[in-house]
Amino acid sequence: MQTTAIIVAAGRGRRAGGETPKQWRRIAGRTVVEHTLAIFRAHPRVGDIVLVVAPEDQGHVQRLRLSDQATIAIGGATRSLSVLAGLDHATGAAVLVHDAARCCTPPEVIDRVLDALATTRGAAPALPVSDALWTGAGGKVTGIGDRNNLYRAQTPQGFHREAIRAAHAGADGTAADDVAVARAAGLDVAIVEGDERNLKITHPDDFARAAQILTAQHREGAMDIRTGNGFDVHRFGPGDHVMLCGVAVPFDRGLQGHSDADVGMHAVTDAIYGALAEGDIGTHFPPSDPHWKGAPSETFLAHACALARTRGFEITQVDCTLVCEAPKVGPHATAMRAQMARITGLDAARVSIKATTSERLGFTGRGEGIAAMATATLVKP
Ligand code: MG
Repeated sequence: MQTTAIIVAAGRGRRAGGETPKQWRRIAGRTVVEHTLAIFRAHPRVGDIVLVVAPEDQGHVQRLRLSDQATIAIGGATRSLSVLAGLDHATGAAVLVHDAARCCTPPEVIDRVLDALATTRGAAPALPVSDALWTGAGGKVTGIGDRNNLYRAQTPQGFHREAIRAAHAGADGTAADDVAVARAAGLDVAIVEGDERNLKITHPDDFARAAQILTAQHREGAMDIRTGNGFDVHRFGPGDHVMLCGVAVPFDRGLQGHSDADVGMHAVTDAIYGALAEGDIGTHFPPSDPHWKGAPSETFLAHACALARTRGFEITQVDCTLVCEAPKVGPHATAMRAQMARITGLDAARVSIKATTSERLGFTGRGEGIAAMATATLVKP
């Protein structure tokens, strides 16, 4: 069944303390939301992801470029309204509604929920209560509770999309979670086995626990580090400038090509596609398609960067060498690094642009054109 994950990140999370809502705080190198998104992006049975955020949190979304990774929905005043906003963007026949603050969910919990949805319209993970339950008052035990048949509820809570949409449409907005909404509408919800690691960050201490779990998980699944290389050549033709790494450099000739012929940007773009093993610029923007004639090469580079993020990778550095006798690259290198940093979302300190001649040898030495080679490093944490 095609599945959409709806990550609900619109809450204010006041119990966790701090100025910034808990889902936007950083642990183990990334924000809580980014960890949570990464879990669902990496899961082979999840198709698309909808991230529901509060209207005032859109700055976080832009800064982290999360719209490359998920469809963004703007949440409402209650949890139920936020889930409905997410459902409006969901395309799957099944949906998984998940708290953004559960950022350590093991993939097998998601599998168990999806397995159950094959035979029921609702399923959610939970753990049986194992501790004794007491009632208390004034610091003293006043009674012993019955823990039989009691469960601690977790997410993702999975449903057939139309069934949960109808349930939310008829809900009064007071339900604590989607299982409550589903049951109020008469839907059966199966319990599947949860996981102790699937904690919800609620109190200040939970950040340290979540960081510990994430660090242990990263040690189990080795980090995926890739490098790719790119090489490109464009020949000189008539013109009064050449585009190099996003900068128009005045020159007595221009570079010929189907797009703006930015040879450096093409090499970097191909390095990123190469690291992903997903072809090259020609694969994604065929030169036979007149649509790309004269296109700014930024379009290609931005596409490669978005594809990397969609695949769960972070680009951590690019290095580009331009090979030509002229024009001189040095005076423009700072501007080129700034342009490349802007498009890739990298800090300029992680973007290297350098140049060399070929000692007057070969086609670059004879001044027939410019060559560029590049490497890019991508990391999936
Ligand atoms: Mg090219």
